[in-house]
Amino acid sequence: MEDGVIFKKIINNKISANIVYQDHKVTAFTDIKPKAPVHILIVPNCFIASSNEINKNNKYILAHMFYIAVKIAKKEKISQTGYKIIINCNKNGGQEINYLHMHLLGGEKLKFLY
Ligand code: AMP
Repeated sequence: MEDGVIFKKIINNKISANIVYQDHKVTAFTDIKPKAPVHILIVPNCFIASSNEINKNNKYILAHMFYIAVKIAKKEKISQTGYKIIINCNKNGGQEINYLHMHLLGGEKLKFLY
C-alpha cells in the first residue's frame, strides 16, 4: 500500500490537485485516474489510515465526509442520475493509499463493484 503522505500534501497545497471543496475538517479533490466521468475523493484533513482507525472520538468525520460527498454530487449534477460512495479498506478491500478516503463516482451507469 502506498504511503498516505501524498494526500496530506494535497490537503496542505504542497502538490497540485484539482481541489473541489475544502473546509477545516475535510478536503475533496478529483481522482488522478478517474474511473467514471465524476470521480472525486473526500479525505479528512487529520490523518486516519483506514476505516479500521475510526473510533468514538473521530467517528463524526465520516458523517461530515458523507454530507460533503452528497453536496458535491448535487453540485456536479449527478444526484438525480445516481452515484456510488465507496471506502476501500486494506489489501482485500483494494485500498492503495494508506489514508482514509471516500470515493464519489458517477456521471454514467456504473458497472463495476469498485
Ligand atoms: P484506493 O484504491 O481506494 O486506495 O484509492 C486510491 C485512489 O487515489 C485511486 O483511485 C488513485 O487514482 C487516487 N490517487 C492516487 N494518487 C493521487 C493523486 N496524487 N491525486 C489524486 N488522486 C490520486
